[in-house]
Amino acid sequence: MASETGSDLDCDVVIIGAGLSGLTAAYTLLKHDSNLKLRILEASDRIGGQILTKELKCGNGETDQFDFGAVWIHKDQKEINALLAELDIQKYPQYEKGKNYMELLDGKVKSYSGDNMPVGIKDKLDIYSYFSKAESASKAVNLENPQLSVNAADLDGTSVEDFRKKTVWTTGGGDLADMMATINHTMAPAHISKMEYLYVMKSCGGYEAQMGGDGSDFRVEGGMFQICQKLVTHIGDENIHTGEKVVSIVQEDGQQRALVKTQSGKVVSTKHVVVTVPPSNIVDIEFTPPFSIEFPPPSYSLGTISFVATYGQPFWRDAGFSGQHMSMLSILAQIRELPQAGPLTMVMDGVSSKGHAALFGTLATGNLKNLTLVTDKLKTMDERKAVVLTKLAEIFGRQAEQAIDYADHVWEPEEGVQEMSKFMDECVFFNQSSGRVHWAGAHVSPSWAGTMNGAVHSGIRAANDIIEQMK
Ligand SMILES: Cc1cc2nc3c(=O)[nH]c(=O)nc-3n(C[C@H](O)[C@H](O)[C@H](O)COP(=O)(O)OP(=O)(O)OC[C@H]3O[C@@H](n4cnc5c(N)ncnc54)[C@H](O)[C@@H]3O)c2cc1C
Repeated sequence: MASETGSDLDCDVVIIGAGLSGLTAAYTLLKHDSNLKLRILEASDRIGGQILTKELKCGNGETDQFDFGAVWIHKDQKEINALLAELDIQKYPQYEKGKNYMELLDGKVKSYSGDNMPVGIKDKLDIYSYFSKAESASKAVNLENPQLSVNAADLDGTSVEDFRKKTVWTTGGGDLADMMATINHTMAPAHISKMEYLYVMKSCGGYEAQMGGDGSDFRVEGGMFQICQKLVTHIGDENIHTGEKVVSIVQEDGQQRALVKTQSGKVVSTKHVVVTVPPSNIVDIEFTPPFSIEFPPPSYSLGTISFVATYGQPFWRDAGFSGQHMSMLSILAQIRELPQAGPLTMVMDGVSSKGHAALFGTLATGNLKNLTLVTDKLKTMDERKAVVLTKLAEIFGRQAEQAIDYADHVWEPEEGVQEMSKFMDECVFFNQSSGRVHWAGAHVSPSWAGTMNGAVHSGIRAANDIIEQMK
């Protein structure tokens, strides 16, 4: 990426953050007018944000690309699917054939087929009725502008935990509902607003598509980072500046331009600013004048550690298993006082589009109430590798110990208040008097677990707002 020294810059648009939202906003603006002078300022030394693809060794001395951040695209997510088609990026379905495993709260691991989870019939009926009630409630959510949804304030004022308590009547059904909410949102159900929950469900095309298992989940051939790479070829390397953490945005009264300053001392004068940083990082940026809209404080996001282990053969498939394992115990131990059974929360088949065998999964970072992080105990990747392979071998058999390569990535928990998140409009004008600072980002709620579809949607929307203002 570019590095620029010397005099201050003059721009039409500055975009803060080179994640999917920022890159999509830049791509959309330059597609509209390739002469626009645009800069993306990114704090980290890499682009992609929550999209992270790494190269691992595979069988036959080959290597391949595997995802450690966002992994799945649902077939009904319109904006991200349209972008993939436009960029000529191919998808392939998540492998789902064969039996799945689930570790129950008593530590017993059971196998099951399809969505026939190893729980009692009453719990099953209860959870299906809960999801169908949630899906029917999600119809009220306005995906374009959630604040305009019917009963928006009510939806945003109710936690998923409260919704579950009012809707689910069996203990087992409640455990399943909490497990799914926690793994999908990486937050405790008490901290997720019903609005966020229903928004994500609806944007995925309903609860069945969101839960997966129905052939609607896709991965990207060659890894998700392809999306960022292709966007960069349109945006131009020279327009993206990494290692530039924005610390202030100053807009003098009556001025049509804003000054964006970075920690390294770069100052960019610009007509428009698009902010795509997560709400938990917004506090690092000083706004003058301050926002005219109050930002809800981010609530606690649990974080996760994602790992990939590569193998010579997908031995689990040969044995009739899908590669899917969910640990209700490890997932719920993050939010309840339960004996911690081991950090593995979820495993999926991660075989690449080229057929290189891999298991992909996640580890819990710790318990919300007693934050002894897994990374405090298992400090090095080698320590984590040993624990993960032992656990995989317990589930899938001894062959799981013979990984060709292993890598993981720690997505740190995001500290915030331990209260319920509040949803907010994706494209709020911070400074309504001039309308020059735009908000975009998948972080429609204070959790970092938005969706790529949300990122693309809000990037396009911020760009379109600017195009409209430029007319
Ligand atoms: C482990 C994991 C799994 C996921 N799985 C899925 C999935 O399967 N499907 C799905 O749809 N979504 C998934 N997501 C969510 C999805 O990846 C995100 O919603 C999406 O990528 C967010 O894009 P963004 O651009 O809005 O934000 P980000 O990707 O967070 O980008 C924001 C950027 O802003 C930068 N920044 C922050 N502060 C500053 C500053 N002061 N100055 C300059 N730059 C700054 C950050 O470094 C970052 O690069 C997953 C996320 C994670 C972490």
